[in-house]
Amino acid sequence: QAKRGGRLWLGYTPELDQGLRSRLEALQRLRGALKKKQIQPYFQPIVELRSGVRWGLEALARWVGEGLPPDLFIPLAEEAGLVHQIDRLVLCQALRLTASREERLTLNLSPRSLLDENLLRWLERVLGQWGFPAHRLWLEVTESVLMDNPVQVRARLGALKEMGLNIALDDFGSGYSSLSYLSELPIDLIKIDRRFTAGIGKSQRSEAILRSVVALAQNLGLLCLAEGVERPEQRAWLQEVGCALGQGYLFGPPQALE
Ligand code: C2E
Ligand code: CA
Ligand code: CA
Ligand code: CA
Repeated sequence: QAKRGGRLWLGYTPELDQGLRSRLEALQRLRGALKKKQIQPYFQPIVELRSGVRWGLEALARWVGEGLPPDLFIPLAEEAGLVHQIDRLVLCQALRLTASREERLTLNLSPRSLLDENLLRWLERVLGQWGFPAHRLWLEVTESVLMDNPVQVRARLGALKEMGLNIALDDFGSGYSSLSYLSELPIDLIKIDRRFTAGIGKSQRSEAILRSVVALAQNLGLLCLAEGVERPEQRAWLQEVGCALGQGYLFGPPQALE
């Protein structure tokens, strides 16, 4: 019900009341889950395609128990102004859980979290609290925030880089895809959206785009990662064109750390 509610509430349909109710209900449950820390990080491996060695882990939010999947509760939280709390909770727990491992960690930051004026102070505090070295942390941001707030974002990313953190551009190719900011902003890693990986062996367009983005990343001296690698043929193809990193069910789903 809540699943449909998130989509229905904008439309003037007979289900409007029902949709609105279940959306409010889901929001209330989400607030409760945040209080009880029922939003927790799962971890998905990121792998070096050439060697097969694990490069790092991406932390992904999960609502444990009777919760909704992230595809539903993250957009809901974004609309309601709660995503910022999710990001902080996931970040804090992920740092705590992985601090003792000598491993890279990537984390998703919503636009609101990235632009939050207290972000830097807060990051410094939690990194210190868990003894987590800044250079092992990679923050994933999306294209839309770069396009919507270019001046603020440039300053913010620069400050994060100065702290020693690394920046990844998430879901590359899924949105605006202006190439100009790739050379202008301090980005370290491009994560190519999984729709392109899905087109390997099926769509010449997807393959052409993948080849171009990998070449572009190489020319700009950026790391490149393909999302959604599910089959050995996709991995082999990506390796062949020189994509350095991969992430997807082929290497492992997101799961609890243990
Ligand atoms: P994302 O950042 O693009 O994360 C990758 C998504 O692809 C994850 O979905 C992951 O489970 C899924 N995935 C990984 N490998 C494969 C594969 O081989 N095939 C397919 N079909 N899917 C794969 P998930 O965990 O449902 O998260 C959905 C989105 O929610 C994430 O997309 C991210 O945008 C957002 N999200 C998750 N956690 C957080 C968070 O803590 N903060 C914020 N702001 N957003 C988050
Ligand atoms: Ca991500
Ligand atoms: Ca992504
Ligand atoms: Ca995403």
